[in-house]
Amino acid sequence: MKAATHRIVGEIEQAVRRMTLRLFNTLTGQVDDLAPADGEALRMYACGPTVYDYGHIGNFRTFLQVDVLRRYLKLTGVNIRHVMNITDVDDKIIRNAAAAGIPISEYTPKFVNAFFEDLNSLRVERPEIIARATEHIPRMVALIQRLAAMDAAYQTEDGSWYFRLSAYPEYGKLSKKDLSGIEDGARVDVDEYEKDSARDFALWKAAKPGETSWETPIGRGRPGWHIECSAMAMEFLGDSFDLHAGGEDLMFPHHENEIAQSESATGHTFARHWMHVRFLLVEGRKMSKSEGNFYTLRDLLLKGHRASAIRFLLISVPYRNQMNFTFESLTESTNAVERLRTFYQRMLKGGFAEGLNPEISTVTAKASADYTAALANDLNTAEARAAIFDLVRAANSAADAGTLRAGNVEEILKVMALFDGVFAVLEDNDAAVTRAALAWAEAEGRINEADPTLVATLALSDADIDALVAERTQAKKTRNFARADAIRNDLLAKGILIEDSKDGVRWKRK
Ligand SMILES: [Zn+2]
Repeated sequence: MKAATHRIVGEIEQAVRRMTLRLFNTLTGQVDDLAPADGEALRMYACGPTVYDYGHIGNFRTFLQVDVLRRYLKLTGVNIRHVMNITDVDDKIIRNAAAAGIPISEYTPKFVNAFFEDLNSLRVERPEIIARATEHIPRMVALIQRLAAMDAAYQTEDGSWYFRLSAYPEYGKLSKKDLSGIEDGARVDVDEYEKDSARDFALWKAAKPGETSWETPIGRGRPGWHIECSAMAMEFLGDSFDLHAGGEDLMFPHHENEIAQSESATGHTFARHWMHVRFLLVEGRKMSKSEGNFYTLRDLLLKGHRASAIRFLLISVPYRNQMNFTFESLTESTNAVERLRTFYQRMLKGGFAEGLNPEISTVTAKASADYTAALANDLNTAEARAAIFDLVRAANSAADAGTLRAGNVEEILKVMALFDGVFAVLEDNDAAVTRAALAWAEAEGRINEADPTLVATLALSDADIDALVAERTQAKKTRNFARADAIRNDLLAKGILIEDSKDGVRWKRK
């Protein structure tokens, strides 16, 4: 029996390591193998945040899906060298900092910190390298000089520098847009502009009075957004690298421009593989502040939604599918995470008879194979998740029927580890995350945005609740039912449920 168990556990481990990821490649328009070209580490770049405000759930869907990619690759034994930029100078940052009456170097740190706190809350792993744009200006200047030397960049009268689109005939190969209407020499200098027209774009913006700028060999000014990513990607990953990822809204013109600048300068393919995460609708509509359906992560935490449920929901829809975020689906996600955790605790608790139930062993092996195959197939998280729930259902039924054996649990825990290596929801850190969000709201004078029940619930520490529960038990013993009921109702009003069971009294936060 023991030998059979270990055979399957070993097979589970080996099977996942044999998997090569097949990932849709926007550049080739097909699903391609993704593996490190140098056989050592997968070199990847993912566009990071522009730190002018708190991140919204659409931003985080992209970071979470890239996290799924990272975690899956690591599970299959692939080493990763992942670079992410922080855009800490751009039009919006300059505008907001000016409105606040402070320099951008004082404006951005708060949002950089908030971004990393939010990634931690959502259990998104940190990239190996994080590059802040303002710390790499000389690299960007050098790249612009290189382009100027080959006449792919030119300076205008005000001192700004532009990329000459006509210098790069392959422009449009990523987004496959019909750009036949390109006007030669037409220019654009803002970081955000209409999505369907191609123009010579700004590489370097000449200093305007009162704006942050750098004195450089190409003049005083600041970098355009696109050149940042090209310069920093090539600085850390080389002229050519394995994968570039980002939200689908960046495909054009940002990524197209990154390719044009980089490939014009080096003559080599910039990124071989491009991954784009589709954007998100909220309650069936495009998320926007004017529609009233715009949510940052912090907004949701203050409403009492759990970080784990948000993570699970945002990754459960595969990255290439448009996702419709609804509060109903968030509730479902909360319940799903709860079910997984209850199951996991049940398995950890053990107490099952020795031996192995071969039927459940077969179910476990199938769940494991289906799970890894689904992720290997273009990161199909929906099918991967379904495979795990098949296992949960079968194992719970067997446990209820008394036919689950200790040997099965060993195999099941192995599969749950594979699952959690990517989905990362089994460990319950939700209360701490929510408490931190409340502390932030308090400090920012925004506690009125928080759900009052949540504030009351988290004002009570676990020890406070334990003491009240003990007092209630004592009250019941002395037949003081009025006091016992009062404690129960008071806790209920604060979102804490007391459950009397044959093993004693338990409580949980709603
Ligand atoms: Zn970028």
